[in-house]
Amino acid sequence: MLRATLWALVYLTIVCLPLLTGWLLDLPPRSVRNELASGLGLLAFSIILVEFVLSGRFRTVSNTLGLDITIRFHQLMGGVALVFALVHPFVYKFLPGPPRPWDPTRELTITSDFWAILPGILAFVLLPTFVLASIYRDELQYKYERWRLVHGFGALLIAVLLLLHAEAAGRYSAEPAVAWMWRGLTSLAVLSLIHVYIAKPLYQMRHRWRVSRVERLTPRQWDLRIVPDGHDGASYQAGQFVWLNVGHSPFSLNENPFSISSAPSDNPEMGFVIKELGDFTGALDQVAVGDKAYIDSAHGTLTIDGRSERDIIMIAGGVGVAPMLGILRKIALDEDRCNAVLIYGNRTSEQIVFRDELDELDQSEWADVVHVLSEPQTGWSGETGFIDGELLDRILPKHLYESGLFVLCGPPIMLTLVEKALIDRGVSAHRILSERFQYD
Ligand SMILES: Cc1cc2nc3c(=O)[nH]c(=O)nc-3n(C[C@H](O)[C@H](O)[C@H](O)COP(=O)(O)OP(=O)(O)OC[C@H]3O[C@@H](n4cnc5c(N)ncnc54)[C@H](O)[C@@H]3O)c2cc1C
Repeated sequence: MLRATLWALVYLTIVCLPLLTGWLLDLPPRSVRNELASGLGLLAFSIILVEFVLSGRFRTVSNTLGLDITIRFHQLMGGVALVFALVHPFVYKFLPGPPRPWDPTRELTITSDFWAILPGILAFVLLPTFVLASIYRDELQYKYERWRLVHGFGALLIAVLLLLHAEAAGRYSAEPAVAWMWRGLTSLAVLSLIHVYIAKPLYQMRHRWRVSRVERLTPRQWDLRIVPDGHDGASYQAGQFVWLNVGHSPFSLNENPFSISSAPSDNPEMGFVIKELGDFTGALDQVAVGDKAYIDSAHGTLTIDGRSERDIIMIAGGVGVAPMLGILRKIALDEDRCNAVLIYGNRTSEQIVFRDELDELDQSEWADVVHVLSEPQTGWSGETGFIDGELLDRILPKHLYESGLFVLCGPPIMLTLVEKALIDRGVSAHRILSERFQYD
């Protein structure tokens, strides 16, 4: 919580820095309307530049806040920047014409110089197109990798146009202190792109992995494992995820996020449970043992490391069991084991992965595994229906609501239902960890 608050303060400081610097310059005051218009422009630009950092997969940021929260915040602030940027030119009260020699600080005049305004107009048109294309990415049926490329470099183009516009047309941005601030923030944005598209792939190139196992577990789920090729492997916490690229160059954009289903141990092999869905996941039958793989690791906050709770209640829907397997396998290796409950929902029993291993865990003293099927076949004697508050009350002793740590992963509808049920039963938000497998 403290670290999240600190990050929020860092964010606010960076975003407000150009605005504050402009204010400290103590230029002759203008009408409130014009000051407001400039303020909105300054804020829109700094928000846009910091957006690059938010999407730059910096582990220090995403592993504190959670990558899904970071991405959601990135999306939210993208919308805020869009509104500020679109509104700002209409708030100005114009005194058009060329710069007046008697008004060196542009107290009365606002530039109408075509070349100063042109980059702003281009950005004005591009920005909403860009944001709408991001919101309606699925409807536009963009290939995810192509969308990522367009998103990254489209944003860079907009940032450069805004830099040109700010320095040529802005009253405050024309001042060296603010202009240098823009150059610094733009460099930070460019460095974020370099970090994702060049530095990380270069690191991955020297830390290659190879596929050690690829096996169908159920009709639509696979067990994929990789081993380090000439290095010691990666450090991670059980429950975290990586961006995995199999069979492509490390500079390719063909990488997808997958939770690690193995536990950190002496064995550097890393495992994943992958459900067939689209381009990559639907072509796992073409992946072979020995294929090259690269990972960007390890991300995510769905982990029990550093937690003091002694009861871990994991609630998984479908392939959302992947990180739970990692956590269960980690607990099994721990000397000082905590108690674990896994509530695992599927449509049919055919979809349950690692059934034997889970049955064995269920026999142990420290773990309970409860299967819940929504479309059970005749003869099924276990729990049926969906995972909801009623089912939790039936399975879990009351004291777990007071002291247990709840770890959730599954379809969005299940997460919403279960989170609400837990909050209604007095579980504090601090004791609920959840991860969605999709950013919308
Ligand atoms: C944190 C996290 C952990 C995940 N863990 C697992 C797991 O353990 N097992 C599992 O089966 N699935 C997991 N997923 C979902 C998995 O990433 C997608 O199913 C997979 O990327 C689909 O890729 P595709 O090429 O087959 O499909 P595509 O047709 O290319 O994509 C289908 C959809 O998947 C999502 N997607 C694709 N590529 C990416 C990407 N690089 N980054 C973010 N989203 C992307 C997009 O929403 C896209 O619209 C996880 C997702 C996230 C965000």
